[in-house]
This record gives sequence, C-alpha cells and structure tokens, in this order.
Amino acid sequence: MTAAAESAGAVDRYAVAGHPVAHSLSPQIHAAFARQTGQALHYDRLPCPLDAFEATVRRYAGAGDGRTKGCNITLPFKFAAFAMAARTTSRARLAGACNTLRFDAGGWVGDNTDGAGLIADLERRAGVQIRGCRVLLVGAGGAAAGTLGALLAAGAREVTVANRTLARAEALVASHAAAAAEGNARLIASRLDVDGEAWDVVINATASSVADAPLPVHARVLAKGACAIDLMYGAAARPFVSWAEAHGAHARDGLGMLVEQAAEAFSFWRGVRPETDHVYAALRAELDAR
Ligand code: NAP
Repeated sequence: MTAAAESAGAVDRYAVAGHPVAHSLSPQIHAAFARQTGQALHYDRLPCPLDAFEATVRRYAGAGDGRTKGCNITLPFKFAAFAMAARTTSRARLAGACNTLRFDAGGWVGDNTDGAGLIADLERRAGVQIRGCRVLLVGAGGAAAGTLGALLAAGAREVTVANRTLARAEALVASHAAAAAEGNARLIASRLDVDGEAWDVVINATASSVADAPLPVHARVLAKGACAIDLMYGAAARPFVSWAEAHGAHARDGLGMLVEQAAEAFSFWRGVRPETDHVYAALRAELDAR
C-alpha cells in the first residue's frame, strides 16, 4: 500500500480527538506500529472545538466509506467519550472515561488503556514496583480517572488523589472505593495543598504542563529517591522533571506511558500487539534533540 493510497482513504482510518491535539505524537506512534506489524492504516489528528466534541467525532466516524474504524481521545473529552460508547470494557467503566473508541457496526465500544500504559511504563521500563507504594495522584480529570484503578490493581498500599477542585477528587475516590477495599488500600481525597509525609510515587495527572501553569504541588510531597512522573511529555514536561530532580526524585515524563497506552489501543483495534521499546527509543531521541 503506497503512502498516497493510505492518505487517500483506501485503508482503515483512525485519529486522535482532543483539544488541543497539535502536540500529539499519536499519529507517529501508530504509523510506526502499523509499519512494524504490516497493518495498512491511516492515523490523523482530529481537533475538536470545546463545545462540539460529540458532533465532530460522529461526523468523523460517518466519513470514509465505512473505513473509519476508531479514535483515541485526549483531554478534555474522555468523560464525554465514555458517554458516547454503546458498550464499554470493565476498566473503562471503573474510570467512567474512555481514551479509545472502536466504531463497531453493532455499536461503538469504549476502552481505557491509560492505566495499563502507566503501569507498563513505570514497572517494566522504569523498574518501579507499585505494590506496597504510597502514591500521590495529582489531578482528577480523565487521565487520573483512567489510571487510579490500575494503580490499585497493581497493589498500591495508599493513593491520595489531590485536585484543584476537591469535589472531583472526592468523586473519583468514591467511585473507586470498592476497588480499593478489594486490595486493602487506603484511598484519600485532598486539595492540592496536601498534608502528610512524602510519597513514594508522585504522578502529575493535571493539565498544568500543557497549560504552562505553575507546578501544582509543593516539593515536600517528594521523598528522596521517589519516582515522579508528569503524564505530559517532551518540552512541556521539562519544568516538572527538572523540579522533581532538583528535589532528589527520579523523574520522568509521560512518553513511555503514551507509547504503552497506544500499543494497548492498537491491539484493541487490530488484534495485534506491537513491540514498544524501539518506538519509545526513537521518539525519546527525537524529543531530546528538540
Ligand atoms: P482533563 O480531563 O482536562 O483534566 C485536567 C485536570 O488538570 C483536572 O484535574 C484539572 O483540575 C487539572 N488542572 C488543569 N489545569 C490546572 C492547573 N493550572 N493547576 C492545577 N490543576 C490543573 O485532562 P486529562 O485528560 O486528565 O489530561 C491531564 C494530563 O495528562 C495532560 O497533560 C495530558 O496530556 C496527560 N495525559 C498523558 C497521557 C500519556 O499517555 N502520557 C495519557 C493521558 C493524559 P480541576 O478538576 O480543578 O479543573
């Protein structure tokens, strides 16, 4: 299949829907997975106005002569995507949010691959074992919702969800109470001026780095040797990474999670699991050179 045929729409089509999406590396990642697995597909960006997410996705899904097969969803639309799915996976239901839609003819199916992506990156690539850890999850939007269940399933001993809007942290804690009880984990909701000892793992799942806003939490949350991760990646995450390293943490951005959650989505759509390490290494080199 030539590149011209792929862009002309003669192959299955996917996209990342969000606001903003210009920064998204998902098209590059899925193109690399497609080459690697010999799957012919085209993957694009789908910018959605803040007040027209559903209409934009429905229009996109209806275009392309039945070849438009699904989309990823990024901020701030993961809860809206969940509401659009006819059926959902259990991890999407726990999150109440979807980052992946598959446009099956019998009804759209929604999944959430963010949590699996985060755990794969932290445990396999960064060597951080979540079992027994105390985790500070900063944020209560779509990314936090998608990762909290996976942190609990991975055996976190305690998770504090801290958010600018306390009510959203409380709602997330309430919806995950049963999952926490199953693993004997403590789950706490807090504002950003969180109290308590430093945490083993600190996750910035807010949009502060995308918005170029100040760091959402005080450095006292970081234990020496803690793992700190900003789910944003590249230049936008550098202030968080530098701040965490300056306070003795092992810091990383969200590139590894991005590649891992994309591999889960690719496999949900195509039934083939791509290898991620080479794709991660190539993107890392590219981002570091910018
Ligand atoms: P979202 O649903 O729009 O939620 C945004 C969250 O950020 C909310 O908790 C919001 O708090 C908080 N927030 C926004 N601006 C803030 C600020 N200036 N200070 C403190 N808190 C602020 O977005 P999302 O989908 O959760 O995405 C969040 C981040 O995760 C983005 O950087 C996104 O790129 C990243 N992400 C990365 C991956 C990956 O694979 N690496 C996957 C998913 C998401 P309120 O509730 O108070 O508004």
